[in-house]
Amino acid sequence: MRELDHHSDHNKAFSGINGKQPIIFCDFDGTITETDNIVSIMEHFNPPGWQEIAMDILHLRMSIREGVGRLFGLLPSSKKREILDFVLANARIRNGFADLLDFCREHGIRFYVASGGIDFFVYPLLAPFQIETEQIFCNGSDFSGESIEIVWLHPCDEYCDNGCGMCKSKILRSYPGDRYYRIVIGDSVTDFEAAKLADLVFARSRLVERCREMGHPFVAFNDFHDIVEHLSKKVVTLP
Ligand SMILES: [Mg+2]
Ligand SMILES: [Zn+2]
Repeated sequence: MRELDHHSDHNKAFSGINGKQPIIFCDFDGTITETDNIVSIMEHFNPPGWQEIAMDILHLRMSIREGVGRLFGLLPSSKKREILDFVLANARIRNGFADLLDFCREHGIRFYVASGGIDFFVYPLLAPFQIETEQIFCNGSDFSGESIEIVWLHPCDEYCDNGCGMCKSKILRSYPGDRYYRIVIGDSVTDFEAAKLADLVFARSRLVERCREMGHPFVAFNDFHDIVEHLSKKVVTLP
C-alpha cells in the first residue's frame, strides 16, 4: 500500500519498539484539546436542530460523515471568523502535549494528528506546536456557499463502510504493521476502528469503555505526560 509521505528519518537516532518504527496517530478533539470542539461550537452557536443530529450520531442512527456534514450545514458561512474566535478563546490543549512532541522529535518517532475535526480550527489551534501540514489529517471546509460545507479529504476506502468522514483506519492501513509499530491515542468511539489495528492504544473517556466492552487491550491516560512516561520505558534507541 502507498505510504502517505516519504520523510527520511536518517538524521535522527533510530528508535524502535519491537524492532519496528514507532508511529503515533493522535486524535484531536477531546484528546489534544480537552473538549470536543464541534460539540462546543454547536452548544455555543446553538443552531436549531443540532441536538437531534448529535443524538442520531451518538446512537449510531447516522454516520459521522452525514451527521457532521449536516451540523455545519446549520451554520452560515458568514460566521467563520466568529466561530474561529470562539474556538481559539475557549479550547484548551491537554497537559503535556508539547512534551510528547519533544519526546517524538528526540527519538525519531513519527507523529501524526488523525482528526475528525475541521481544518479551519484544527490548524490554528495546532499552530504554536510546529507540526508540519503533512503530519495533520483532518477534514476540509468550504465557506463559499450560504452555509458551511465540510470537504471530505480522507473518506473511507473499500475496507471501511463506517461513513467515518475522516477515515482513521484507512490512514493506519497505509502504514503497514510489519514495518511500523502503530500507536493510537484517542478518547472516543470514533477512534475504535483505528485502535483495533494498532499495536498500542492509549485511551481515555469513552474509548476506555469501548475497548473494555470489546476486550481490546489499552493503556489508560489522563494527560500526555502519562504517555511520555509509558513510551520512555518502551522505546529502545539503537547504537
Ligand atoms: Mg476525539
Ligand atoms: Zn472509515
